[in-house]
Order: sequence, then structure tokens, then C-alpha cells
Amino acid sequence: MPDVLEREISTTDPANPLTLDAIVVGGGLGGLYALRRLREIGLTARAFEAGSGVGGTWFWNRYPGARCDVESMEYSYAFDDELQQEWKWPERYGTQSEILRYINHVADRFDLRRDVILNTRVTSAVFDPASNTWTVRTDTGHVARAPFCIMATGNLSTPRVPDFKGINTFKGRWYHSGLWPHEGVDFSGLRVGVIGTGSSGVQMIPLIAAQAKHLHVFQRTANFSLPARNGPLDPEIEATHKSEYPARRTAAYDTPFGIAGFPPPVKAALEATPEEREAKYEAKWAEGGSISFLYSYTDLLVNKAANDTASEFVRNKIRSIVRDPVVAELLAPKDHPIGTKRLCLDTNYYETYNRDNVTLVDVRSSPIQEITPAGVKTEDAEYELDTIVFATGFDAMTGALREIDIRVGNGPTLAEKWAGGPLTYLGLMVSGFPNMFTITGPGSPSVKTQMIVAIEQHMDWIGDCLATMRARGMHRIEPRPEAERDWVQHVNDVADGTLYPLANSWYMGVNIPGKPKVFMPYVGGFAGYKNKCDAVAANDYEGFVMSR
Ligand code: NAP
Repeated sequence: MPDVLEREISTTDPANPLTLDAIVVGGGLGGLYALRRLREIGLTARAFEAGSGVGGTWFWNRYPGARCDVESMEYSYAFDDELQQEWKWPERYGTQSEILRYINHVADRFDLRRDVILNTRVTSAVFDPASNTWTVRTDTGHVARAPFCIMATGNLSTPRVPDFKGINTFKGRWYHSGLWPHEGVDFSGLRVGVIGTGSSGVQMIPLIAAQAKHLHVFQRTANFSLPARNGPLDPEIEATHKSEYPARRTAAYDTPFGIAGFPPPVKAALEATPEEREAKYEAKWAEGGSISFLYSYTDLLVNKAANDTASEFVRNKIRSIVRDPVVAELLAPKDHPIGTKRLCLDTNYYETYNRDNVTLVDVRSSPIQEITPAGVKTEDAEYELDTIVFATGFDAMTGALREIDIRVGNGPTLAEKWAGGPLTYLGLMVSGFPNMFTITGPGSPSVKTQMIVAIEQHMDWIGDCLATMRARGMHRIEPRPEAERDWVQHVNDVADGTLYPLANSWYMGVNIPGKPKVFMPYVGGFAGYKNKCDAVAANDYEGFVMSR
């Protein structure tokens, strides 16, 4: 006899939908914490997850070298002190498999797994304004109903392979970094091509080069990368960090990136002498880590002349590492200020180009024309390959939401509302789409912070909001259109006051053909953002309309 839960979960009969207080979309770090928080406030919920396991990003991105670029002592949940005290991270930066092991541990430890429905992709979410109910349907035929829908769909969860002509004619195997086979890939003896040199490419290239017969790296835009300086986690650092954990977690809320422990800079770059700057950048380069480097001076992300000093420092490092001066110059980014695209962290990335079995192909000057049965054809050559790896990125921040048919009654879809770019109030809700929350949605600091701190802050805010609604006997909440308009304007104004818009980045949506060029994350800093969210709640949910 199936128990109640099994019967509920197997519900695919529209006349007998799974009936809940809240539906969560996604079983990654956001979805799992949503389940935990909803349970805490006494709401029933289930999460639908497309993967065959929990973990989101860390479930899918299993490419060689996949590793978090936020330090492992920071990149973890803060909601349970025993958890953070007991968990042991082996290295300074967590590997994909280690982080996935941690997420599975959390799912078991807090008994969250029973509320996750795996192998199930949400295809539509339709709100009925008369009953204030979301009906969610999935590709496996589930139908679920709930007054609230929480989108924990991730910011980098929609992998994109460019629409290259001939891709289906390729005789070898090809892979995308974000859809990596669980059994791994053995590149031994193979001629491999990696297309893309963002964070994923930069991490995998040294490892693939060490295994492959020959590696061709197809680079369109050179990216800045700093040494991660990874290594075993120093037990003393671990012990100190653990003794300070609660205080550090609280302090993280008062920082721009949601990470404590980096003293804020006090000086502008151009106030320092060239010798002082060089010494500072050198120390940061030796220390490893991107936030620390960007924290060298107050103005690296707002003043181009200041940024030029840091950018040139890293370009000179590249020139000093890479022996072939032509290759070094190609690898030295010149088209965007450092930090305005996601700053990569690496282990032996630039050194890899000194290997005899690695060739850098500049596909900016000679773009890829097609994939042929034999390999990759650019404007001026054809490269014969056994395997192609696409490290070509994601339809970031809005991709996963735009793929779901989200609508209110027969109204326009969310994708239609966002045709000119995402519109949200605080990155938490969308006007005209009541009772739907977005965890780390566009217009919130999200990808510009330590993601887990952002997830917890969002879901704590949402949990408090739902508890308040229940206490007041309210059934419906949505942002006022004018609050949304003003917030979107603010998000744009803040971005325009920085150097970020100077880069053609996925933050701007420009990596996806046809996507509107709009800066999507909020870069006003996590601390100010959290204060704003708290003030909105304290001020009777200012900018939102609650109703019965
Ligand atoms: P990405 O940063 O978007 O990089 C994609 C790369 O593919 C770029 O070099 C891009 O060149 C290239 N590309 C795309 N289409 C191309 C085409 N048609 N022809 C040639 N090249 C093409 O993607 P990602 O490396 O997967 O990283 C995405 C984000 O995920 C990161 O920024 C980071 O936030 C996160 N991530 C984090 C980690 C970590 O924590 N360590 C690791 C991996 C990813 P252009 O620049 O010219 O477009």
C-alpha cells in the first residue's frame, strides 16, 4: 500500500491535483532552503526538480576542474550552526563533487528529500485570480495546485550551445559544460576542442590539456583570470573560522558581496603611487581570490582610469607567464575593464598555453563558421577534432523562467512581459504575477554575491512575508507597478554608475542572440539591498499590495 506521500506525489490526474500551500520550482540550493523555511512556518510544499538528484548547478556542472570560486568556508548554508560546525571542507575552494556531497548531506540531515519530486521539469504555471491559486504542470504529467509558487530556478541553469551550422554532422562526441555526463569523459589520446574561455573553460582547460593528445582552445574574448591559490584547507584557518562563524555570517550581511573577512578598501587607486599600487596588486595576486583583488581600491569598478591600473597589472602577469608573446597578447584582455565580466579564478590556466599540445585559436579575428563532420571550421582554417567541449555559457538569470509558460489566466506570459528585459520589484516579485516569488531573481544582487547568503536572505524574507500574510488573513500579494518601475530604474541607474555596462557580458544578456541588452543583477551592494528589503517589510510591505 503506498503511503499518503507516495500517492500525492504520483498524482498526474488533473481532477485530483497535488494540493499544497506552496510549490517550489527547483531542487538546488535555493529550492532546498525554500522547503526547509516553508516547513518551519508550517506550510506544506513540494519542489519539482528536473535532475535525477538534488543540487542544481552542482548536480549538472560536472566538467573536469569544476569548482566554486568562493571559498568553501563561506560557500555553505548559515541557517544551522551545528551543520556549519560539523561539516569539514577539505580544500580552500570546494570541488563540484564535494559541494554536491554537502548538498545531499543537507537534504538528508534536514529530511528535505521527501519533498523533492525528481526527474520532473515544470512546463507551465498558471494563476487563477478568482481562487488565488497557481496550477503547475510538468513534463511528466504532474498537476499541483497551491496559493504560492516559489521559483528557485537558478541563475545559470539554462545551458546554451551556440546555433552553429552543421553541429549535428560532427562525427565525434560533443559536450556542454553544464550538461556533463555523470560517468565523466576520458580525453586520453584525443584531439579535443574547447569553445569558450569563461569561468567554466578556464577551469577545465588545464585538466583537459593534461589528458588530451592535443587541445585547441577557441577563444572569442580573452577573460581576466586570477590564481585561485587552492590547496588543502589550513586546520588553523578552519578552526578560527568556525569559532567566528555566527559573527561572520552576520557580518556578511553588511558587506557589498555578502562575504565577511575582507576589510573594505579605504583609498582610491589613483591616490596611490604606481609603486604602492604595484605592491598592493602583487600581494593580492599572491593571496588568490577575486573579491580580495577587486577590493584593492575603492574605485576599481567605477573609475576606468583606476581600473586600467589593475587591468594592466594582470595583463603584464599574463605576458610574464605565457612564453609565446603572440599567444600572450591574445590572452591579455583589452576589450573590457577587469571585474566587469565575471572575474575567473584558475589553477595553471595561463601556464597551460606553454604546453606543446595546446593551441590557442583566435575566433574573434576568424570566427567559427560551422561544425563539420571532422571538427571546427573557422573563416581561415579547419581543425580536425575527436571531441568538442562547449564551455559557451548559459541563458543567464531569466532563461529558466522564460522557458516556463508562466501566466495569469489568459494574460501575457512572463516571457512576454520581460520581452524588453526583466521587470521585478526587488528581484523578489513581478507585478501582475501575484503570489509568485523569485529566489535571487533579476534585479536582486544574486550573482554579484555569495549565492547562498543571497538565497537565505531571499527565502527568509519570503518566509516572513508568508507568515505575516497568514497572521493577517491575507491571501494575495503582488508589487505595485510603480514600485516595480522605480526599482528597475534604480537597478539601471546603479549599474550605469559603474563600469559594468562597458562589458559584453551575460550580466547584460548579450551572449544570447535576440536577448535584450539590459543589466540584470543589482550591483548596489548586498548590505544596502538587504536593508531595503527589511525596510520594505517593516514599513508594512511598502510597494506591495496584500489582499484577501
Ligand atoms: P560564460 O562566462 O558565458 O563564457 C562563455 C564563453 O563561451 C565565452 O568565452 C564566450 O565568448 C564563448 N562563446 C559563446 N558563444 C560563442 C561562439 N559562438 N563562438 C565562440 N565563443 C563563444 O560561461 P561559463 O564559463 O559557463 O560561466 C558562466 C558563469 O557561471 C560564470 O560567469 C560564473 O558566474 C559561473 N561559473 C562559476 C564557476 C566558479 O564558481 N568557479 C565556474 C563556472 C561557471 P564571449 O565572451 O566572446 O561571448
